[in-house]
Amino acid sequence: MEVVLAGVELRVVRMTLARPFASARGTRRRRDVVLVRAIVADGPDGWGECVAEPEPTYWPEYTEGALHVLEHHLVPRMLAGRSLREVRGHHMAKAALECAALDAGLRAEGRSVAAFLGATRPVVPTGIALGLTRDVDALVDAVLHWHGKGHRAFKLKVAPGWDVEPVRAVRSTVGDEVALLVDANGSYRSGDDDHRAALKALADPELGLVAIEQPFPPDDLLGHADLAARIEVPVCLDESIASLADLETAIALGACGAVSLKVGRVGGLLEARRIHQRCRDAGVSLRCGGMLETGLGRALNLAVAALPGCNLPPDMGPSERYYTTDLTTPFDSRGGTMIVPDGPGLGVEPLPEVLDEVTISLRTIRTEQ
Ligand code: MG
Repeated sequence: MEVVLAGVELRVVRMTLARPFASARGTRRRRDVVLVRAIVADGPDGWGECVAEPEPTYWPEYTEGALHVLEHHLVPRMLAGRSLREVRGHHMAKAALECAALDAGLRAEGRSVAAFLGATRPVVPTGIALGLTRDVDALVDAVLHWHGKGHRAFKLKVAPGWDVEPVRAVRSTVGDEVALLVDANGSYRSGDDDHRAALKALADPELGLVAIEQPFPPDDLLGHADLAARIEVPVCLDESIASLADLETAIALGACGAVSLKVGRVGGLLEARRIHQRCRDAGVSLRCGGMLETGLGRALNLAVAALPGCNLPPDMGPSERYYTTDLTTPFDSRGGTMIVPDGPGLGVEPLPEVLDEVTISLRTIRTEQ
């Protein structure tokens, strides 16, 4: 697959969140997202969405930084035919650029991203991720709301002081048929006795968790290995796995029974494909993680979630869960499942009228003749 780029367009869109999002800088109702468009002279253009968030709290990258590194370091290299590996880190920015180029190439070939990755399922189950709530009742209400719409898998955020009690309340409300996992985003400390005790309590078979995601900070692989040796529930690594090499280290240490796979975090589709294969070979479970993507990123995630190794519930819901108006034709869910796009490339494109309305900045970098 060879595409000759005439240029790359970098665009920031301001999306309105369906539900306000609490952050250190207050409640956010909008989310700025960097989109990359690979401009091809004699074929269809390609699209990539950068999943960097406005603040560098989940991951070191953030929206404005990603835009800067794309404009000044990554796009010029790609247009000059040089390797993006010359730049260290900045995986989310790299992944967006790689996705745009791959999308263009796959559209020209008439092949879907799902087929390119090796996805085997035409539909995938949904999984609804729920953040910290003001109290247990609010969490149970949120679970019941989505349960009532047919969703049967939930990821609950946990943190020290907010773990066993809310999870037990949800489990006793929804019964044993629902898949539950928890995600701590690295908020526990492996050296803290109370924290370790809380995590052991979460692993109680009565709670029936399918995974405990990222209990400790990303660089604490030894802490994760120690916990994994003491509990039956798989320890799932998210922020700890930035590359195939990180995965190899985690496997060697016995630190991960599962991986939350995010294409942006690992620097692109090609690395994601390698990580998926290695996990399958090693018997490590996978789940497709989500980053509040627009329809473009959702299409990509659906392809990832459809991979044969992705056997744990994904972060995946219909467009209405995320944005008041999605960038693409909205994704719907039915009976707790969603259809994996099978059209060329990502299989979806931004709707021109929506794109115009939400764009707040636009610059194009042309290939030098
Ligand atoms: Mg996570």
